[in-house]
This record gives sequence, structure tokens and C-alpha cells, in this order.
Amino acid sequence: MKLIERIVERHGQLAGWRQDIHAHPELGFQEERTAALVAERLASFGCEVHTGIGGTGVVGTLEAGSNSGTIGLRADMDALPIQEANTFDHRSTHDGRMHACGHDGHTTMLLGAAQYLAETRQFNGRAHFVFQPAEEGLGGAKAMVEDGLFQRFPMDAIFGMHNKPGLETGRFSIRPGPMMAGGGFFDITLTGRGAHGAHPESSADPIVAAAQIVSALQSVVARNVDPQDTAVLSVTRLLSGDAYNVIPNGATLGGTVRAFQPATLEFVDKRIGEITRHIAEGLGVTADYRFRLIFPPLVNEETATRLAGDVAAAIVSETHLDRNGPGIMASEDFSYMLNECPGAYMNIGNGGEEGYCEVHNPGYDFNDEIIPLGATFFARLVESRLNA
Ligand SMILES: [Zn+2]
Ligand SMILES: [Zn+2]
Repeated sequence: MKLIERIVERHGQLAGWRQDIHAHPELGFQEERTAALVAERLASFGCEVHTGIGGTGVVGTLEAGSNSGTIGLRADMDALPIQEANTFDHRSTHDGRMHACGHDGHTTMLLGAAQYLAETRQFNGRAHFVFQPAEEGLGGAKAMVEDGLFQRFPMDAIFGMHNKPGLETGRFSIRPGPMMAGGGFFDITLTGRGAHGAHPESSADPIVAAAQIVSALQSVVARNVDPQDTAVLSVTRLLSGDAYNVIPNGATLGGTVRAFQPATLEFVDKRIGEITRHIAEGLGVTADYRFRLIFPPLVNEETATRLAGDVAAAIVSETHLDRNGPGIMASEDFSYMLNECPGAYMNIGNGGEEGYCEVHNPGYDFNDEIIPLGATFFARLVESRLNA
């Protein structure tokens, strides 16, 4: 493995930073301590530092040479509302909050890369280090984009990385095109006409309508979505009625849709609306249907994906890189940044030994062993892109 020696020498220091962040987890948009620590480190390296972007977001900028090329590297800083079950020394000092997704590690790897790049400046252009708040479903990437991230810090390409439990250390995985599903939530409110349970002729029964809608929605993925494409439609809520002898006035349904193509999400949204309205109309019930996009699909741009793959292969060798890794049905809000700027998202192995712990589990911990590898990857990405 061709790690950057200067970064390897700092492994102990970087692991200390990571464990300190782990011990002080902060939820989305509340990353005051973490953002201050990041800003202070970036300034000490010699970066130009901007804080308060999209809430608690931080951007550090480095320049070298006279080329106009720019690159962005992004890490996330937030923790989760989970009670940590670990008992090691660096466990969370805050009840009900923990770094169970490894964002403490992502932040540290990017700091490690910034530190090395600031010292050596073997690139020609401008590098922006983007530390975003609130990745865990609260819209931190969107907030930074809406706060003018790409206008204030123009970038030719942006890259992000997530650790992956189950993938051995020393390995990377990426895929061109859609890599993580986009997701949305939907709500259906049916309004009928209630009646005595023994007099259905006086009612417009919302329960019968709800039951038919749930069944009919199963046909969207099975009969409407291209079999070569992938989508999930799950009805996860169905609420109505309180009594045995009362046909209720209304019913509500809710659920989630996941797909890798934005057009597929839109198509499934449209079909849910059509099916719902027509069944309701046929049964004399009115339907109000709403769909909320939570995350767009994460789509890796081809050229950026190839570059990220080449950089990873140069460090760990082609045999430890999967350039056509699996698509993931979970979502990731870096997709909001990739919708504005071409780039790619890499997975780095967090360890795949027997009994490894998944992210969002109270027993999870980021693997400090991979810090030098992740930092080397980020640093080499800047040097490769800005010297090309
Ligand atoms: Zn997470
Ligand atoms: Zn995460």
C-alpha cells in the first residue's frame, strides 16, 4: 500500500483527533464544537477559513501555483441520536448522542489531507475542504448549496467518501452513475362519508378505498417500472377507524419510495397519484396525495469516478478496488452537491472481519486504522486532479 509517509507519521495525532470528536458528538446543525475545532485546525495549517455556511458548515481553502483548476473535498460532521453501547475510553460523553456513522472519521481524514497539502503544496490550483453539517436526514448538504457553496467557492469537481463496514480495510468501492438510491415519503388522506356499520349504503367507505389503493400500488413496481430498473414502493402506514359498528369518515396512508433514477422517482410519484385519485373517485371518496423528496439519488459522474478509481488503485492496487461496486438502496445527502457539481462518492472499507458492526448501531466505531489511507486518498485526489 502506497501511503503518504508524512500522514502515516501523524497517525497517532489524527487518531487522537478522531477519538476526541467521537467523545463529543453533536447532532445536525448543532455541530458548534466540531465546527470550531475544524476551523481552528484548518487555520493553523494555513487555510483560508469560512464558517457558518448552511448553518454550522465550514470551508477551508488552499492555493498553490497559478492554474485556475479547482477541486472540492467534502466530509460530514454530525452524529446520531443513539445511546452509545461501547465502553472504551473515547465513548460518547453525551447521553443519547453518538458518532454511529463514522462522520468523526470522515472529518479527521479530510483534516489529515488538508494538513499534508498545506505543508507540501504539490498541486497547481485551488482546493476547497468542505465540512458539512446535518447529513443524517436534516438537509445539511442542501443548506450549504442554498447558502451559495458553489457560487462562493466555485469547483470543477467535488468528491466525498464514506466508510463501509463489511468491506475489508485497505479496499475501496465505487460505481459510475447511480450509486445510492434517492428516497421520498408520501402521504395519502382519504375523506369519505361515515355511517353506521350496518348501513353501508349511506357511506362512502374510506377503508375499502384504502385497501384497494394499497393493493393497486403493488402494481407500480411490478407492472409499470422497467424491469431493468430498480425501485421500491412500501406502504408503511395505514390508519383508520375506532369502532366495530362505525364506518369512519376518513383514512390515512403513508410510505416510502426508493429508486436510483430521478426520473423513476418522479414516475412512481406520478403513478401513486393517478392510482390513488382514480380508485378514490370510483368509490366516491376524495383523496389528497402528497410526495416529499427527501434525498435525490446519488449519481457519480463518469470522469470523476474514473479519476477517483485511478487514485485509489495507485494507492491500494487495482486488486483492492471495486470499480463497479454494488448499488445501495440507502440514501446520502451528498447527492444534493453532486446535482450541482460533477464529482464522485467513494466507499472505503472499515473492516469486514467476522461480527463487524454496521453503521447506525450503538456498538459501532470508526476504524482508526484506515485514517492514513483515507487521508492519502483525499490528498492524492487533489494532486492528481490539479496537476493533470
Ligand atoms: Zn448515517
Ligand atoms: Zn454517514
